[in-house]
Amino acid sequence: MNNKVIIKELEKLAVSSGLLDLDATERTDMIAQAGEYAHQFISGLNKTAGFNQKSVGDLSIKNNGQPLSQLLRLYQEEVAENGINAASPKHLGYIPGGGVFASAIADFIVAVTNPFSGAYYASPGAATMENEVINWLKKVFLFPDDSVGCLSSGGSVSTLIALTAARDRHKIKNEKIINSVVYLSEQVHHSVQKVLRIIGLEDVIIRYIPMDNQHRIIPEKLNKLIEKDKEAGFVPFLIVATAGTTDTGTVDPLNDIADIAETHKIWFHADGAYGGFFILTSKKDLFKGIERADSLIIDPHKGLFLPYGVGAVLIKDHDAVLHSHYYTANYMQDGYNDELLKSPANLSPELTRHFRGLRVWLPLQLHGIKPFISCLEEKLLLVKYFRNKLMELGFCTGPEPDLSVSYFWYPFQANPDKHNQELMDEIHKDGSVFLSSSNIDGRFVIRIAILAFRTKKETVDEAVEMIERCLKIVLLAL
Ligand SMILES: *Cc1c(COP(=O)(O)O)cnc(C)c1O
Repeated sequence: MNNKVIIKELEKLAVSSGLLDLDATERTDMIAQAGEYAHQFISGLNKTAGFNQKSVGDLSIKNNGQPLSQLLRLYQEEVAENGINAASPKHLGYIPGGGVFASAIADFIVAVTNPFSGAYYASPGAATMENEVINWLKKVFLFPDDSVGCLSSGGSVSTLIALTAARDRHKIKNEKIINSVVYLSEQVHHSVQKVLRIIGLEDVIIRYIPMDNQHRIIPEKLNKLIEKDKEAGFVPFLIVATAGTTDTGTVDPLNDIADIAETHKIWFHADGAYGGFFILTSKKDLFKGIERADSLIIDPHKGLFLPYGVGAVLIKDHDAVLHSHYYTANYMQDGYNDELLKSPANLSPELTRHFRGLRVWLPLQLHGIKPFISCLEEKLLLVKYFRNKLMELGFCTGPEPDLSVSYFWYPFQANPDKHNQELMDEIHKDGSVFLSSSNIDGRFVIRIAILAFRTKKETVDEAVEMIERCLKIVLLAL
């Protein structure tokens, strides 16, 4: 092919390839349609159900272009209105958050500008912005300035980064694996066991630390387990404590656990994915000792109410983190000399990645921190309010929660598990507010997790009405 032919061919292709680069009018129209869609969606949140069970229609790729209006309609019907409405104030199951609007704008700007945030060299501003978010987190959790961290996709990947650093710091490999011991509580998030398998530590010994009746790790029992293991010739290597368990909202006694970890020189990992940001509230004292953890994870997509897709990890031993994640290749040579720790790619498995810095930085800078704290305080009160209401209705409730997750069950005369399960099914069928269930101390329980920033007293009232309505149905069928 000579260049004359090539140029002709390129001119032909440009007609179609150019369709990807919209002109100003098309962009304005698209933004207007998306904006209108967002307004409609958000203004309908209080009226629509928290949960919908329906089958999904045809979402297959058609290969030919279709109008945005039609595609947005499809999105609304098949995605937004199907399953748990996680943006809704009425999502009170699992761990909600909501998704503050400023982050949506940030993601839009990020997608338009598309900075390469993995390497400081490629986008010093993006890397610095992300590092400033990490610096802010270090201040909030009283981590030292020379600790490191990055923004990840969420708690699970943050855990992966943290436990990999623990593994490499303690050189847990080869025959050492089967002699190494990890200490967990029964209430630990399942991502921890999953991560252990992913990072090649499936065969470590796992000890479950006994808990008190508030579902907290008992430090003395932990210490006993460790001493016994040491006597038996095993190598205690990792303790995981939770600052806000998923099931019960419990904060483990972090400071006592830190003492034990320090005495025995064991890596102390704190999981604050759900509860971490409550350190900003009147519950601050519960978090004493979190600053002594070797690694900490927190999820801005939970406790800062940001849209899904942003977790954070802080780790004190940067050499351990670099050992796991720093890697280089010939095609990276232009970025060689930039300070290692300024580039998120050296601190996580990701290279090319979503620039998550702006979706955290923008809402914090725009609103200031106060509204976030008020939201968290509000959730703490709402869960108390909910429990009072349920007790009035004759429900049993779990222990007074540390944070904003609690559980309850109805004391049916016979087969309580079966009938509470029926009650859960009725609640899901009703769907006006979404709750989820769990099994705690061998009992089927229904959980309420109040963390969505839009959840207010009215939502909790609606939940109570729904529960009352569903209980009647179950009682009538007895
Ligand atoms: C949600 C959660 C995780 C996992 O985080 P993801 O962001 O869902 O990956 C880990 N630990 C706790 C306590 C959690 O609540």
